[in-house]
Amino acid sequence: MAKALEYNATLVERIDITDALTLFRIKPDDQPAVPWFVPGQYCVLGLNNETVPALGSVRRSMSIASSAQHEGPIEFYIRFVAKPASENPLTHLLWKLKAGDRMYMRAHAAGVFTVADTVGVEDPRIRILVAAGTGSAPFVSMVRTEIARNPNVDLSKWVILHGASYAADLGHRDELNAMVAKHRLRYWGTVSRPDGSPGWRGDTGRVEAFFEPGRLEDLEARIGLGRGELTPKTAMVMICGLQGTISGTLTALLDRGFVPDFKRIREALAVPETMVSSLFYEQYDHEPVIDIKNPESVAPLKARLHAALVRLGVPT
Ligand SMILES: Cc1cc2nc3c(=O)[nH]c(=O)nc-3n(C[C@H](O)[C@H](O)[C@H](O)COP(=O)(O)OP(=O)(O)OC[C@H]3O[C@@H](n4cnc5c(N)ncnc54)[C@H](O)[C@@H]3O)c2cc1C
Repeated sequence: MAKALEYNATLVERIDITDALTLFRIKPDDQPAVPWFVPGQYCVLGLNNETVPALGSVRRSMSIASSAQHEGPIEFYIRFVAKPASENPLTHLLWKLKAGDRMYMRAHAAGVFTVADTVGVEDPRIRILVAAGTGSAPFVSMVRTEIARNPNVDLSKWVILHGASYAADLGHRDELNAMVAKHRLRYWGTVSRPDGSPGWRGDTGRVEAFFEPGRLEDLEARIGLGRGELTPKTAMVMICGLQGTISGTLTALLDRGFVPDFKRIREALAVPETMVSSLFYEQYDHEPVIDIKNPESVAPLKARLHAALVRLGVPT
């Protein structure tokens, strides 16, 4: 049993987007001076199980959705997990909280899923940010921070693709659409259950379907690239969420020569050590992205990546 946590933060506000998707705004007692995190990083939140004390406490990582320049409460975008893997799921305790309640938050950010730690802030390429569900949080933090640093910033090299089951589940949609109008952000939401989304006229299907053959050319046209030009020469890719989104996007983009930044996948695909990565991901679950132990599934992926690298003229 995990030992009791000493509470050091207050839930200031919760905004329930749907029954299972909520923005939690939390104020640590000793909030460091801004900027104390880099957009894309996460914090650890925790609670003691007061209803069943024998279950002890639980802590989970949560991506920060706030701007790194924001001095107020820190925003987290969290899904209630209906079928959790543990017997003391944090989201089930979180959902009982109301504004003013106390909790644990480690006011120390962690993680390297940031532009600075991947391609570097000076990298001029298009940034394609792919998210499903609450995986949009780090990307919302990134564009919010850009605007906080420069209210007139041009976000046209930032592309956010966000998938959800229903239109109502596309959190931060109005704010991101306002950034499209004012800052030239490229943002498209897509819903996989359009029948349950009355009035939805946007894209449909899962977010990784943007990269399917036959649809990729459309995405290229939307972001100002010619047919076949979406490659590591023009863009970098960041993906956040569950295994299906990461696996579907990564696999489709092997055909364009995108090299994943994950040691064991690189080794399985025989990527030379000196080759720089162009596709990065943050995974919220533990399912394998690629079944690297299975030669039958790895061999065709390896062949696809190497064929793409040859087409791009990259020595392998
Ligand atoms: C670096 C990092 C950042 C994270 N940031 C966020 C975030 O910003 N928002 C967020 O909602 N979750 C986030 N998660 C997931 C979070 O840490 C927990 O795993 C999740 O909240 C479930 O915890 P639990 O204790 O309620 O359930 P558990 O009993 O721990 O169940 C875990 C299972 O829940 C499922 N699951 C986990 N996350 C999600 C999700 N987001 N949507 C649907 N199913 C999920 C997976 O199948 C996982 O195996 C993040 C995870 C990591 C590693």
